[in-house]
Amino acid sequence: MSADCIFCKIVDRTIPSPLVYEDSEVVAFQDINPQAAHHLLIIPRQHFADVGEAAAAGEGALLGKILTVAAELAKARNLAATGYRLVCNTGKDGGQTVRHLHVHLLGGRPLGWPPG
Ligand code: AMP
Ligand code: ZN
Repeated sequence: MSADCIFCKIVDRTIPSPLVYEDSEVVAFQDINPQAAHHLLIIPRQHFADVGEAAAAGEGALLGKILTVAAELAKARNLAATGYRLVCNTGKDGGQTVRHLHVHLLGGRPLGWPPG
């Protein structure tokens, strides 16, 4: 738990956000400002600022778990056939605005490439 981290507050339910998935390590919820018909955020319960911090802490299994949950959520939403995108914005140039590691799951429309 990191004080003043909005996603830690979602994990500890200080901020109410309906969870679409939860287990002992990972939770997922709707992005508050969706950029596609399906836009979920998959995060670890434990606070890591970004993917690099989790990797440096030896949390490779947790990182794999986050991607596995993302793929399962995409499949459950019937996105696997049409495709979807997983995004992990990291740091300032990566466009990360919330410094709690998260993976975006975006789907339900064709997504442009390259990103801005
Ligand atoms: P990023 O820019 O990659 O750090 O993504 C942060 C995401 O968190 C943005 O897409 C925001 O819309 C989303 N977000 C911020 N606050 C909340 C919240 N309280 N509940 C759900 N999503 C949020
Ligand atoms: Zn946090």
